Amino acid sequence: MSIDFDSLPLPEPSSLTGFAGNSIVRDSEKRSETSLAEAAADPACRCYLFLPGKAVFGKAAAEGETAQILYTVSEAKKLGGKLDQAILLGHEDGAPRLAVRLGVEAEALGEAYEALDFRSVLYAKQANEGDLAAIAQAGSMMHWHTMNRFCGKCGHESQPAIGGYRRDCLNCGSQIFPRTDPVVIMLTIDGDKCLLGRSPHFPPDWFSTLAGFVEPGETIEDAVRRETFEESGIRIGRVRYHASQPWPFPHSLMIGAFGEAVSHEIKVDDELEDCRWFTREEVRQMIAGEHPEGLRCPPRKAIAYSLVSAWALD
Ligand SMILES: [Zn+2]
Repeated sequence: MSIDFDSLPLPEPSSLTGFAGNSIVRDSEKRSETSLAEAAADPACRCYLFLPGKAVFGKAAAEGETAQILYTVSEAKKLGGKLDQAILLGHEDGAPRLAVRLGVEAEALGEAYEALDFRSVLYAKQANEGDLAAIAQAGSMMHWHTMNRFCGKCGHESQPAIGGYRRDCLNCGSQIFPRTDPVVIMLTIDGDKCLLGRSPHFPPDWFSTLAGFVEPGETIEDAVRRETFEESGIRIGRVRYHASQPWPFPHSLMIGAFGEAVSHEIKVDDELEDCRWFTREEVRQMIAGEHPEGLRCPPRKAIAYSLVSAWALD
């Protein structure tokens, strides 16, 4: 087969999703037992600050001013930062970037700071694309540490190692590495119509693409076919990959795909409140906020938006 790279869309669709603009050089092959201490001792080192499930920002002094996102190691320590449990995200322009959890409550930070959950960060003004991606990287890693405090093999407490990118069990010698959970998210196409559904937890009038976790032993294509059939009763034939998105809730990789419908009758399962076929024109109206019933699609930065807009607008 010949691979036609020239026909691939530009810019790369994944690069247009939120949390995707990571400019940190991870230097994964260079992580060692001394990397964290060396990074923290570097005067150029800067820290992203966190509380459980939240990123901490400085409040902008005035309208239009930029909020502080990166802090020196000594500033992080003054705010109660746990430097011994920091995660070395990598380097940016040669300067180390750490993720540091603060050992205080949000209220103790004072008026000059605010803590935002990761979903709010995605649409807040404080973080640029690179910061968003670093926050996603850090948030997923922190959740992984929280959930892996004990060795899965022997039950002994485990310790962070190599800059936070591994946990070691000192009892049985097991090494535990970070995990990413693959999730398929797909736009099912039937000629000039696409399939969108509503979960009960969606905002009112919001329809989106279907999605679900890839199960062990399953290909991406099979997961797209299974999840679509389970949720909507629609059978999918061919599947085409579109884009991916890091999704720190808590540590997923969204894998966006288009699926070709080979059946048409919808049978909605309990997971969805509603599921319908929408014409391309209707989807364009939803994207523009002009749908006659007031229906909407997920906003920019969500991979669901990337899927519906690539199909409806291009
Ligand atoms: Zn163990």
